[in-house]
Amino acid sequence: MQVRPWSGRAAQDALRWIRAKGRREHLPCCICGEPLDYSLRGGDWSCSVQHIKPRSKFPELTWDRANWAPSHLRCNKRAGDRWQPPDERSRLVVILCGPPGAGKTTIARQQDQLDILDWDDPQWTSRAQFTKAMRGIAANPHARAVIIRSGATTTARVRARRTARATHTFLVTTPEAVCRQRVIQRHRGDEKQSLQGITGYFLAFDHNDNAPEFPGWNTILEINKPKPIAPIITY
Ligand SMILES: [Zn+2]
Repeated sequence: MQVRPWSGRAAQDALRWIRAKGRREHLPCCICGEPLDYSLRGGDWSCSVQHIKPRSKFPELTWDRANWAPSHLRCNKRAGDRWQPPDERSRLVVILCGPPGAGKTTIARQQDQLDILDWDDPQWTSRAQFTKAMRGIAANPHARAVIIRSGATTTARVRARRTARATHTFLVTTPEAVCRQRVIQRHRGDEKQSLQGITGYFLAFDHNDNAPEFPGWNTILEINKPKPIAPIITY
């Protein structure tokens, strides 16, 4: 099979394509997991096209966009053909969306296998810090975490999913009246803000992405149990 060599105009176009995708989806370097500065043009730390399956062994996938991922030019050169994508079978990153009072935190605490990242947690002092933690999850091939967001709109949910490279996004669909009642019963200082949050959530809510309702931890943790690796048989 004759494959066009990786060079010239077509390779430049491929780089532009992966750069646009990486920037849009906030993708880290697929090799080292560190953030990529998509504004750099050239140099060790600029974006390059990493072939997930190496060109030397899979020449037919050279121009297959599904076989491209962004990496630092430096990481790409160093890895050569030896790099293999990490085994992500144990990765499980769940985003739970719903208004204040929906019971997201309660649900998150019903399991003890996943780390909980809750925006309501007072440890976060800024949005940027929380986003950084989500990026850290995105870069971790073995991450096991549940992220709590309001995510009223498809746009917000997609953004959160991409930032954390989430494997699942679920809605906690509690009726508005129940949410309000719970928030009032909590007697917390942020009651007014939470009630406004509920109003805002139901005003903004859309379901264009058909995000499913949270099905319970049994279903999710069962499906995503790391699969046993086949034993290596030596003769
Ligand atoms: Zn890198």
